[in-house]
Amino acid sequence: MELIFEIGSKGRHLSLLPQCDVPKVEVPEKFRRTQAPHLPELSENEISRHYTKLAGRTHGVNDGFYPLGSCTMKYNPKVNEEAAALRGFNRIHPLQDPSTVKGALKVMKMAEDALCEITGMDAFTMQPSAGAHGEFTGLLLIKAYHTERGDEARTKIIVPDSAHGTNPASAAMCGYQVVSIPSGPDGCVDLDALRAAVGPDTAGLMLTNPNTVGLFDKNILDITKIVHEAGGLCYYDGANLNAVMGIVRPGDMGFDCIHSNLHKTFSTPHGGGGPGAGPVGCKKFLAKYLPGLCIEETADGKGFEMVKAPQSMGSVKAFNGNFLVVVRALTYILMMGREGIPEASSNAVLNANYMRVKLSDDFKMAYDTTCMHEFVMDLAPLVKETGVNALDVAKGMLDYGIHPPTMYFPLIVHEALMVEPTETEPKEVLDQCIDVLHEIYDMAHTDPDYLHGAPHDTVIGRPDEVEAARHPIVRYVWE
Ligand SMILES: *Cc1c(COP(=O)(O)O)cnc(C)c1O
Repeated sequence: MELIFEIGSKGRHLSLLPQCDVPKVEVPEKFRRTQAPHLPELSENEISRHYTKLAGRTHGVNDGFYPLGSCTMKYNPKVNEEAAALRGFNRIHPLQDPSTVKGALKVMKMAEDALCEITGMDAFTMQPSAGAHGEFTGLLLIKAYHTERGDEARTKIIVPDSAHGTNPASAAMCGYQVVSIPSGPDGCVDLDALRAAVGPDTAGLMLTNPNTVGLFDKNILDITKIVHEAGGLCYYDGANLNAVMGIVRPGDMGFDCIHSNLHKTFSTPHGGGGPGAGPVGCKKFLAKYLPGLCIEETADGKGFEMVKAPQSMGSVKAFNGNFLVVVRALTYILMMGREGIPEASSNAVLNANYMRVKLSDDFKMAYDTTCMHEFVMDLAPLVKETGVNALDVAKGMLDYGIHPPTMYFPLIVHEALMVEPTETEPKEVLDQCIDVLHEIYDMAHTDPDYLHGAPHDTVIGRPDEVEAARHPIVRYVWE
């Protein structure tokens, strides 16, 4: 396919800019470029066709099944977009006087209250723009707490090996030393290893729950107790809240702070690097360190004002974060309501378990037990029998119009395929994927070479993934 730089023609353009109604100001000489920028020149028609063609080469939830584990690629109700497109929300400026954006402030307050109720926390900041950003912010809360108490010896964060990969990275970004502890054979945190790891140098624990093998840690209350007794705080990675929302609350399990991915559980389209939001919630004793501006009702009860938390850490992002993502999340929460929220979780768990059980005749499950919203298949036996590995199976699925599951993650399962069907898929779609996987399993035994060469029907076959990751060409060089 031609790049946008390779189509169009000199002089072709589209100008819909209104007449300038302010005095023209010359850019000072020292800021001016010496050469005119070399930009593509296309008509509106050509631009439209170009992007439609590009869109046809991608795969999204609107195209088909997308069971990418740990990513919650679920259907995002279109009504969210309608709410986010309202002029009162998308034509406002963060520096406007608060009295002129009362509705927007109310949205943020309502979203905060809803998230507090769902998670069992006392306050939230909407500033962080992604899950990993939320983790970083949450750890800064933990750091501020220990620092204020003069407890500077607490330099270590404990992270189980079943955590999401961003957890140890965020802890390291915060200047903490990461202590990794192993999972037991049941996929849960090994309590003896945890007891041995905690001490006066423990700043806290980060727990991904459900963890990356899709299990709810059955010892969760013991885990938070052990960490608290050692003087540490407990951080809950709530990126995948759609397994538990409306059913159990991290705040009730003893966690002190949490982030939630609005772009997963609370239905904002994601995956293309677009704006997300990873709001961070905490218990009352940590709220004074929250970043940005908190929304509070004014004394007369007639509006809202933005106030800085007394010992705020500063800002982790400009203004109030990605506000329109918050609008989408609140729309989703209000549409779902008290009954819909836990029902979504139950269906996410039901769909995953339905697939897990139907697939276990052929495929080995990494942990053969009831899972939460996702499960991990271990393809090591298939590799041994046929030479067909997780990558071959994933590539084979592409020919059926299904996005593959997450591959080779979590690292504790070597030939992992991690499947997350989400709650928004009907039984027929799950059944079709189950049939496809059974067919691929049979093919692995009869014609493994066909799978080594898959996909056969997609525009792009097997790109050199290492080369693409290490040496991406992201800049067009004009001749
Ligand atoms: C997706 C995810 C994250 C990271 O979220 P980003 O928005 O991609 O930064 C963290 N933890 C878990 C468990 C996740 O699934």
